[in-house]
Amino acid sequence: MKDLRIKRLTVRQYNWTFREIGSDYNGFNQVYLKGATCNEIWYALTIETEAGITGEYIGAVGGVWAAQVAMVAHYLIGRNALERELIWNDIKRALRQIDGYGLAPIDCALWDIAGKAYGVPVHQLLGGWRKTLPAYASTLHGDENGGLDSPEAFGDFAVQCKELGYPAFKVHGWGNGPIEREVATVLATRKAVGDQMNLMLDPACEYNTWGDALRVGRACDEANYFWYEDPYKDGGHSAFAHKKLRQFIKTPILMGEHIRGIEVKVDGIIAEGTDFIRAGIHSEGGITGVMKLAHVAEGFGLDVELHGPGAATRQCLASIRNSNYYELGLVHPKVPGRHAQVPIYGDAYSDDLEAVDANGCVPVPDGPGLGVTINWDWLAKHETGKVVYG
Ligand SMILES: [Mg+2]
Repeated sequence: MKDLRIKRLTVRQYNWTFREIGSDYNGFNQVYLKGATCNEIWYALTIETEAGITGEYIGAVGGVWAAQVAMVAHYLIGRNALERELIWNDIKRALRQIDGYGLAPIDCALWDIAGKAYGVPVHQLLGGWRKTLPAYASTLHGDENGGLDSPEAFGDFAVQCKELGYPAFKVHGWGNGPIEREVATVLATRKAVGDQMNLMLDPACEYNTWGDALRVGRACDEANYFWYEDPYKDGGHSAFAHKKLRQFIKTPILMGEHIRGIEVKVDGIIAEGTDFIRAGIHSEGGITGVMKLAHVAEGFGLDVELHGPGAATRQCLASIRNSNYYELGLVHPKVPGRHAQVPIYGDAYSDDLEAVDANGCVPVPDGPGLGVTINWDWLAKHETGKVVYG
């Protein structure tokens, strides 16, 4: 094997503008706003080895992890890049008092190195077999601006997605509207698409009360929703409260997107707080953490559902039996897709609305490592900063 000791880490910062996007009432949720622009700051991590093989990762929530990479860079220099399990556990401990987001880009870049060293895609190292993944269209949040601004607008968009081939559709509603509009949206979306499409609802912890969560949950029951995700402002943390909710509604609950740590998630499962298990590349410490949690769920006989799109997510899902859908989003009928506006990949990789085939599936990248080609030439034009370690 080549000399895969880590020689250098580089974190690059980028700045670009995204069109037709504004923010909602509190400034946190991105929503459709005609003519608006939204400034975004992203980061990319590269890990170079002595042998010249470089791991590459680019992803959202960059500001958080860029600072954490700085905290552990000295530890990584000189390490064998293939010793992911050791590195994962050491950094998990090192970042234990903060959220640990910095572990994810490091772990993904190390898997990218491993795939490139062996000349295979990551899913092949994981024992994967699936070449395509059924996707659900995951919407931008509801707006007040002529986009997804009514129950009927969500219904119309669900029909559009169904016609594109999507087997499932997930609503992200409004943050501060009347709860009656949330109930109406659940029912109107089902009415629009009929019975042949799985529907999910993700209030993203916006409802103020457990009672509101119950009211909307009963609508999900009536409309036969596939899952009901993180409904109210406990933050998706209280296993007790969600167990209570499960006693009053029959729609499966999905919580855990904001809980950090496999051990804590297991506690939540044992406390009967959830039906589907949530995992995510960024929240679980990368591919290594996601696969651990997938096997935890398997041990309980449950399914794991991965948060958000991305090449690393696709590599994992290709290798997990107990999972239903790839989350493609966030999509909107009037917003040009992210990859159409911000082409960070130089190949056909896309998570835009039209990225699915006629069966509503996306392909698993098949190149070495994470399987995608980062468009470094385009990124260079938007670079605003660079820090080199080693
Ligand atoms: Mg969510």
